[in-house]
Amino acid sequence: MSSSPSPGFTTNLPAALAASGTSWSTVDAASTPGFDRDKDAGKELMSARGKILSELQERLYACGKSGDHRSVLLVLQGMDTSGKGGMVRHVLGMVEPQGVDHATFGTPTEEERAHPFLWRVEKKLPRPGQIGVFDRSHYEDVLIVRVNELAPPSVWRTRYDEINDFERRVVESGTTIVKVAMALSWEQQGKRLARRLRRPDKYWKYDPSDIEAREKWVAYQEAYQAVLDRTDTEWAPWYVVPSDHKWYSRLAVTELLTGALTSLDLQWPPADFDVEHEKQRLASLPRP
Ligand code: AMP
Ligand code: MG
Repeated sequence: MSSSPSPGFTTNLPAALAASGTSWSTVDAASTPGFDRDKDAGKELMSARGKILSELQERLYACGKSGDHRSVLLVLQGMDTSGKGGMVRHVLGMVEPQGVDHATFGTPTEEERAHPFLWRVEKKLPRPGQIGVFDRSHYEDVLIVRVNELAPPSVWRTRYDEINDFERRVVESGTTIVKVAMALSWEQQGKRLARRLRRPDKYWKYDPSDIEAREKWVAYQEAYQAVLDRTDTEWAPWYVVPSDHKWYSRLAVTELLTGALTSLDLQWPPADFDVEHEKQRLASLPRP
């Protein structure tokens, strides 16, 4: 990725958000790295950058239709209410829905539990030409599983290396992986959960188990730190995105995705037919 800032940003965003060396518990979730203007300006920039994202996505899709096997996978991880669902709606909502392979990962089913943890993940990888989005992911298998002791340490400890190997294979097969850890403050999560309890139109989003996860905030911070320490690889790097301001986290992910697609240097596929001949055929058809 180029190191100069994109228009509207004060620094190169992928570099500013790169996870390497991050101390997760001290990330300022309300900060807006690389952007020094307000919410309205942020939204305006996001829609401008979204047009570029949309064009790049169309190119990726076109390439996929023409035999190019490449794809992009956005992995979203964050605590409850960090805005993963809204990220999909607002960022991926700016591109053609047909080009998006969206997957969510909840509590594994009985069938899924009977298989190795990556089994259900492998099945949801993006097809060629697609932008895949994981709303939660295989990282739950070293987050909730670790925090809630759903598997013994001897099992989850080996998963970091397994995940790195898995992601390396995925990247080698043509998928660019962009991993986003959405940093949310304790205070902001409290406000968002309270809103869910105050508003009847938000009840459906509330899950009593969110309180159990909140209760284990520190253990989750340790588990997120371990994820960043163990799985921030050259082939599948993590980005830490401050998410107390949804307008910022959405702008940042728009930019990270745009950067990933730009680095693919996507060209419009050439015609696999004789253009001049087809023009003649079209022009020579008599009106019925
Ligand atoms: P939500 O994303 O709000 O729909 O919630 C999905 C729930 O499924 C969260 O509580 C996750 O922690 C949980 N979950 C996701 N993956 C796993 C997993 N591999 N093992 C156990 N629980 C999981
Ligand atoms: Mg939930």
